[in-house]
Amino acid sequence: MPRRDKESWGHSTVETACPLDCPDSCTLEVTVEKGRIVEIDGGHQNPTTRDYICGKVRRFADRVYGDDRLLYPGIRKGNKGDGTFNRVSWNEALDYIADKIDTIRRTSGAEAILPFCYGGSNGLLTQDTNDAALWRRLGTSRLARTVCAAATGAANLGLYGKMPGVAYEDYVQARLIVLWGVNPSASGIHLVPFIKDARKNGATLVVIDPRSTSLARQADLHLAPHPGTDLPIALAVHKHLFDRGHANVEFLDAHAHGVDALRERASAWSIARAAQVSGVDPSDLERFAELYASASPAVIRCGWGLERNRNGGSAVAAVLALPAVGGKFAVQGGGFSMSNSTAFGIKAAAWMDDTPEPPTRLINMNKLGDALLDYRDPSVEMLFVYNCNPLATMPHQNRVLEGLKRTDLCTVVYEQVFTDTTRYADVVLPATTFVEHYDIAKSYGPISLQVVRPVIEPVGEARPNVEVFSELAERLDLGEFEEETETLMRIAGRLPQQVGVELMERGAATPPYGGRPVQFVDVFPLTADGKIDLFPAVLDRQAPAGLYGFQPDPATDRYPLALISPASEKTVSSTMGELRERAAVLQMHPSDAAERGIANSDPVRVFNDLGEVQCPVGLTTDVRRGTVSLAKGLWRKSTYNGSTSNALVPDTLTDLGGGACFNDARVQVALLGRH
Ligand code: SF4
Repeated sequence: MPRRDKESWGHSTVETACPLDCPDSCTLEVTVEKGRIVEIDGGHQNPTTRDYICGKVRRFADRVYGDDRLLYPGIRKGNKGDGTFNRVSWNEALDYIADKIDTIRRTSGAEAILPFCYGGSNGLLTQDTNDAALWRRLGTSRLARTVCAAATGAANLGLYGKMPGVAYEDYVQARLIVLWGVNPSASGIHLVPFIKDARKNGATLVVIDPRSTSLARQADLHLAPHPGTDLPIALAVHKHLFDRGHANVEFLDAHAHGVDALRERASAWSIARAAQVSGVDPSDLERFAELYASASPAVIRCGWGLERNRNGGSAVAAVLALPAVGGKFAVQGGGFSMSNSTAFGIKAAAWMDDTPEPPTRLINMNKLGDALLDYRDPSVEMLFVYNCNPLATMPHQNRVLEGLKRTDLCTVVYEQVFTDTTRYADVVLPATTFVEHYDIAKSYGPISLQVVRPVIEPVGEARPNVEVFSELAERLDLGEFEEETETLMRIAGRLPQQVGVELMERGAATPPYGGRPVQFVDVFPLTADGKIDLFPAVLDRQAPAGLYGFQPDPATDRYPLALISPASEKTVSSTMGELRERAAVLQMHPSDAAERGIANSDPVRVFNDLGEVQCPVGLTTDVRRGTVSLAKGLWRKSTYNGSTSNALVPDTLTDLGGGACFNDARVQVALLGRH
């Protein structure tokens, strides 16, 4: 219930939680005056996020009340891409969509419908609830939601069955902290103070990142590998541990199998060879291997940056295998942290739908362009987009754009604001934001589960996902309408044991293991036999070069530069991209620029055979030579020509999990106007 902080009428502070696609799931305090948000700040319920939040959500009210907010349903009146709509009522819009769905399922079959959603909110109500019920009962095409965390998920599942990881708080105990492919200053910010406290206690910090981030600059050792070469680095450390007698044989004998196969695959990677392939200094790599061998507790924060390439799954598997080979478990502050999303033991299947998932066509979301343009029997006739802005977030952007322009495609976009994808919609539906609806926020950094409460009335005619999908189901005789509080209670009732009860009573559930499990003391691998599998056969079969097999760099003479697109401090993936005011800047090393006659702030074209991005350049030694960087999640308005880095990203897939290879984009850069 709203808590009154002042006597004045209409002023209250409401505690809620952030369900955006960020590891931390902060508790929030939202101050409302006369029904309008005036401040968003940190709340106290979540002990890990304490009482501060990021700058992105501090200004979330600018999204809620901004000029780009979608307020009413609309049906397209101009050409595709004009972005002009006639305002209609919800009834008219839902009738239109239901009629279209009904026609398609009768004439072409429901597989001609492609629901398309991803992480615009990570809340448990926002996707995989009433939407999943509708799609399953219809028998639409299914979506493999693999744009992020697919390779890390496959590796973590294969080796450890997704064992919960080291808590942020326990980093203070570590003597060695390794940040591998992750930048907590931009995403998962609440880890940073614990790292700082650990360093005050004498911990050594190693950062492995192609960019010199602020934490990399503070680190005792920074390895800046060429993108896509984390695998050789990790394998070289394994070889070092095995060859120098640092492998913990006793631990491996008791808790792991697949040791010999890992050792054999690592044997090809000497420090010298890995250093040569990755472009790091061999003495730095050797120093890292020695630091890792000797320090305890040692913890690796494995991020998502190293998965976004052709070797990403094997790289993550090799990194996650290090604490096993090095014997770093069973001590507070030792082991690894990856995603903690499964730590509560909550499985979406418990409430998704009693209807089993139909064996319909599975479409990898990274292949959206192909799906819209090439897939047949049936071709995609309806694309229903929600919680997602695919034109900004999917690979091979120009192909996605071409698909969205199809005049025979009916595109529904159910969104909070007028995104790039919305411009190509036939029907737009306004969605509530997390300050206007109920949800359940489950974090994947800390271990927490919290209720998200509406703090204001929906803006305009925006409506929550669960109501709209159940209403559509009712229109199609596939279910009954459910109010969001009914859905909330239904899901809470299907959560494990006391979790749901506690969640409803106090707004948060007590995390298992007090939220701070010690690996191999409190938690163990969730594999079938409870052991670590360092060489899962299923992963070895899946990877094109076998598990831990290295695939060479895709650079060519024409496109020699590696383009990376890391998370930024301005957006959560692409969410809030509408608020970016200035053109995004391509970061480039001064030596690479000088070779091309490019000076700081020059307008440049970044291009390859897939597309071209035009934007200003910023010269900096924060990126290594041979690598350029443009922020992730940009909207089309953030560049001169409306293309973003995704226009240069191939739709090839990671070795494990079918993930996106954002960091396999190879490009050339030239002064704009020079060819
Ligand atoms: S985006 Fe992350 S850091 Fe920001 S408020 Fe949400 S959970 Fe907290």
